[in-house]
Amino acid sequence: MSENVPKLRAALDDMPSYKPGKRNSSDGPASYKLSSNENPFPPLPGVLESVTGAAASFNRYPDMACADLLNELSTRFDVPVEHLATGTGSVGVAQQLLQATAGPGDEVIYAWRSFEAYPIITQISGATSVRVPLTAGEEHDLDAMADAVTDRTRLIFVCTPNNPTGTAIPGPELERFLDRVPRDVLVVLDEAYREFVRDDRVADGLALYRDRPNVCVLRTFSKAYGLAGLRVGFAVAHEPVAAALRKTAVPFGVSQLAQDAAVASLRSEDALLQRVDALVAERTRVAAALRDQGWTVPATEANFVWLRLGDRTTDFAGACERAGVVVRPFAGEGARVTIGEPEANDIFLETAETFRKTL
Ligand code: PMP
Repeated sequence: MSENVPKLRAALDDMPSYKPGKRNSSDGPASYKLSSNENPFPPLPGVLESVTGAAASFNRYPDMACADLLNELSTRFDVPVEHLATGTGSVGVAQQLLQATAGPGDEVIYAWRSFEAYPIITQISGATSVRVPLTAGEEHDLDAMADAVTDRTRLIFVCTPNNPTGTAIPGPELERFLDRVPRDVLVVLDEAYREFVRDDRVADGLALYRDRPNVCVLRTFSKAYGLAGLRVGFAVAHEPVAAALRKTAVPFGVSQLAQDAAVASLRSEDALLQRVDALVAERTRVAAALRDQGWTVPATEANFVWLRLGDRTTDFAGACERAGVVVRPFAGEGARVTIGEPEANDIFLETAETFRKTL
């Protein structure tokens, strides 16, 4: 039998698959999706127009260099165009970074729990994951992460704000960590939720990368900019890393629709960032209400909140779904709940209040 099936890499055996946030069920009462940290606002008319404009020529390949988008990003973030690279979502860029740095025998360090793609893309690369538990306060344990570095370490993911806990790392703490990491180890600062940060003490990767050639900042258009369905993210890093990202890119991976929508989004940034302000105001309201109900909610700088529920996690997710909101359970650990429309947040809060009494 075995000679009749293609030989697949052993690294793929027992690999957990990426579990997308559950969608709203079509037959049940659940009608709000708070399971994927998406932006609840529909596309801005101007951004939608850019996509329909680009759609008129989708018989052609997109601009492989993403020149317009890179120029726009270079101006917006005041970084040289050579320091920028785009990819199919920031998860696509993260996978390219692994392809560029790590393979069998190498080690990749990240906090756990953190973004669930890290173990998957590390395993695909053939490298070994080294998971460093979060602190009791649900924060990165940067000392333990620096202690975990060996001569086999090739890449370290630092997710700030962290998915799913929402906690973000203060600047001086991150600098101290970066000073401890050998300069030939790539540190990826995954800032997918950066636009939701309001605490000024939180590190800004774009300030930190400038004099550190081993630091790469990952950003995305999926969250604050609301383009999750179009798949476009980008990295900011010094030239050798940015050049490696161009080499490992899937040719034409970022569609013209995505490129044009990203450019239009940067040009409509004021309107989009006002929406982010509204979501941050909702985040403050939701976190305060949960604390009033007696929950321990880690300080969140992202567009979601984290509730540690242990073995009641699945029950809680079920109660939310029956009430009309789909949340993201991590069985045995806790639930991550995206900040959505005020009415969705209200349903979640009511459910949380009732559930709290059963704990
Ligand atoms: N990084 C983090 C921390 C995330 O939470 C996500 C999305 N869930 C991503 C990266 C990937 O986002 P995208 O590929 O849509 O840019």
